Amino acid sequence: MPAVKAIVATDPTGPLTVGTVIRRDPGPRDVLIEIVWSGVCHSDIHTVRGDWGPVQYPLAVGHEIAGIVTAVGDEVTSHAVGDRVGVGCMVGSCRECDNCRAGQEQYCERGFVATYAGVDEDGTVTQGGYATHVVVAEDFVLRIPDALPFDKVAPLLCAGITTFSPLRHWNVGPGMRVAVVGMGGLGHLAVKIAHAMGAEVTVLSQSLRKRDDGLAFGADHFYATSDPATFTTLARSFDLILNTVSAPLVLDDYLGLLALDGTFVSVGAPPEPASVTLFTLFTNRRRFAGSSIGGIRETQEMLDFCAEHGVVPEVEVIAADQINKAWEKVVAGDVRYRYVIDISTLAQG
Ligand SMILES: [Zn+2]
Ligand SMILES: [Zn+2]
Repeated sequence: MPAVKAIVATDPTGPLTVGTVIRRDPGPRDVLIEIVWSGVCHSDIHTVRGDWGPVQYPLAVGHEIAGIVTAVGDEVTSHAVGDRVGVGCMVGSCRECDNCRAGQEQYCERGFVATYAGVDEDGTVTQGGYATHVVVAEDFVLRIPDALPFDKVAPLLCAGITTFSPLRHWNVGPGMRVAVVGMGGLGHLAVKIAHAMGAEVTVLSQSLRKRDDGLAFGADHFYATSDPATFTTLARSFDLILNTVSAPLVLDDYLGLLALDGTFVSVGAPPEPASVTLFTLFTNRRRFAGSSIGGIRETQEMLDFCAEHGVVPEVEVIAADQINKAWEKVVAGDVRYRYVIDISTLAQG
């Protein structure tokens, strides 16, 4: 397979430029995908900037991929040419460990193969979805239901599953009181999904600036965390708090909002260690937890759920040459609520 056109980083701090990445020749169990839409996740920026450790350049990032199958290997049974498909944060795992067998590939005991900046089974560094094509093993390729709008679906592949998985794991449904901390790319989907699951949803946002949006997305209540009264008004009132922000929080304040047997689960994390007064956990037998993306089966379940319940990400479509500006805005928190790159503008540009 020849090199394919891609938006690449050539160093940690410089602008992204148009270049190429090499894709492997599709094997018998591989699917060749022509990428049509590619979501922009804050993780893309952290990875390129080296915030999470050194990476090799040039690097194409992007792990919210929506595209069309253009070729399949001889042994592929689950996807066919012409299908609309998605790829998220993983493109492989050992498939043999207990966690993989349980459909929890994100917790593969040998570590899953990340969609970009990961080490592939052949030893090469994986390259992500800011590109015209990708080759992925069929068992890591998701079906995109017809009911989901193609241009908006990509963010479900990372932001969607990252919030769906903990909501599902903690059995969110009617009668549950769920708080979502932060209403950005992840948080806005958490609100929509928790609402679709039937929960009573409260948004805890820094200010009331996004209140109208939050209520339109299905939130029942919206509070500003900059107002200290929020933490007394809402004390002991949630069964589950899903934290989607990466800024450091005064965790004791948030844990104090949990009712009996309530859980605070974080999918956002500041780089520094956090501090918790353990006495806060004794009260109401509270739990403090984390969660990482979701398994492949669960990701398919999430896509099907979103199709059935009309859960669709809020996106701003950009052309390939707007990516550097878009990254600046993501860093500034100035996006409503996810950028999606129209990859046709890269293919033709
Ligand atoms: Zn992501
Ligand atoms: Zn495994």
